[in-house]
Amino acid sequence: MKTIIEPFRVKVVEPIKMTTREEREQYLKQAFYNLFLLHAENVIIDLLTDSGTAAMSSKQWSAIMQGDESYAGSPSFYRFEESVRDIFGFRNVMPTHQGRAAERILFSVMCRPGSVVPNNTHFDTTRANVEYVKAEAVDLPIPEFYQPATWHPFKGNMDTDALRELIARVGPERIPLVMLTVTNNSGGGQPVSMANIREVKAICTEYGIPLYLDACRFAENAYFIKLREEGYADKSVKEIAREMFSYADGCTMSAKKDGLVNIGGFLCTNNDLLAQQEKDLLILTEGFPTYGGLAGRDLEAIAVGLQEVLHEDYLNYRFTSINYLGRHIADQGVPIIEPPGGHAIYIDAAAMLPHIPALQFPGQALAIELYREAGIRSCEIGSVMYAHTDPETGVEKPAAMELVRLAIPHRVYTQSHIDYVIEAILQVAKRRESLRGYRIEKQAPFLRHFTARFAPMK
Ligand SMILES: *Cc1c(COP(=O)(O)O)cnc(C)c1O
Repeated sequence: MKTIIEPFRVKVVEPIKMTTREEREQYLKQAFYNLFLLHAENVIIDLLTDSGTAAMSSKQWSAIMQGDESYAGSPSFYRFEESVRDIFGFRNVMPTHQGRAAERILFSVMCRPGSVVPNNTHFDTTRANVEYVKAEAVDLPIPEFYQPATWHPFKGNMDTDALRELIARVGPERIPLVMLTVTNNSGGGQPVSMANIREVKAICTEYGIPLYLDACRFAENAYFIKLREEGYADKSVKEIAREMFSYADGCTMSAKKDGLVNIGGFLCTNNDLLAQQEKDLLILTEGFPTYGGLAGRDLEAIAVGLQEVLHEDYLNYRFTSINYLGRHIADQGVPIIEPPGGHAIYIDAAAMLPHIPALQFPGQALAIELYREAGIRSCEIGSVMYAHTDPETGVEKPAAMELVRLAIPHRVYTQSHIDYVIEAILQVAKRRESLRGYRIEKQAPFLRHFTARFAPMK
């Protein structure tokens, strides 16, 4: 069968407000050409992020009704803990309101000023939380990571030679933990292989350094291993996920991704001493350790979502649909990060719009045009987000890549929505030479992409 069908039926619908191009032009002006400032109801297909945007299943909604809101010792916590332990296997499980809260607690307890934390690639909140405790966040991806057009089955891998060099250079005593982000979100949702996890673990063991996983998209990573790594084709995704976690000493998790919920996260560790300190901090800022900033019903929804995301019919559908989107535009000459990622397609806007200089934001220009053309909201991941201004010279240096991310929310859009997105991208691609860059008229001193005001170049 060639037709991709959703392995679920629709029980509740959310109407989409359709808009005209004239209306969208108006909304763009009102939002100062910043897609974060649009009212979401004026977006037809929202591919800004897969975080917290999942549709919940009938099982999750019924679990929500079982939510027990006791302050301490809620049965909802124990169901949540059991579901997490079943897959992740760690001894201590602490709920948090989302992934970044788990990060803040982990790094506050484990790092000191001058510590160094290696990661395949830090996600932006992870990096910010490492730097907040005055530690240094070091990215060690393999070289292929920076080559958008190069195909590699596990482009999210960590460069293990670079890890050894870093340890030799700064000394193992300055490295309180090594992290691996699965999948590697910041550059294409690319997977990390089991062999790489094992190799990183072996290096960590040699130097007595704990290994943590940033586990946000653990199910997608496990499915990539099943599809691409020798020896895993006959294993279930759950077995593969368990093996991934068996090499780690703990993890941080945003349940807003592969937990299939709208809010929540958790922190895990096998180290009881650390867990005690982490629980003390949890009580200070999140809540009692059996709810950690979440309602009992949220814990119930996560308990179910973590199991549902491992359904292989679902993962097969998700990967097939995202791959279909990627192939259809790439085969028509739209440059994307190859191969397509587990949760998103990333268009290489620098290659698609070579006439727009990096500091006139080709990614922003493309994202705006997709909204104007078809009401599709995507996310610039380029110089708007990551350009760096030298504090001494004041010279602005562009980001390493100019990308536009089309992130696919879990179970929200159907295959005909995907066809509509393909059509819109190809229409914009046809008149790519006519696109113009943008300049920033007003910006905040950090995380400027959320609030900056833009104006089109003449
Ligand atoms: C989303 C995300 C986080 C942060 O989680 P939040 O729930 O948004 O705080 C951390 N790491 C990765 C890889 C993520 O994708």
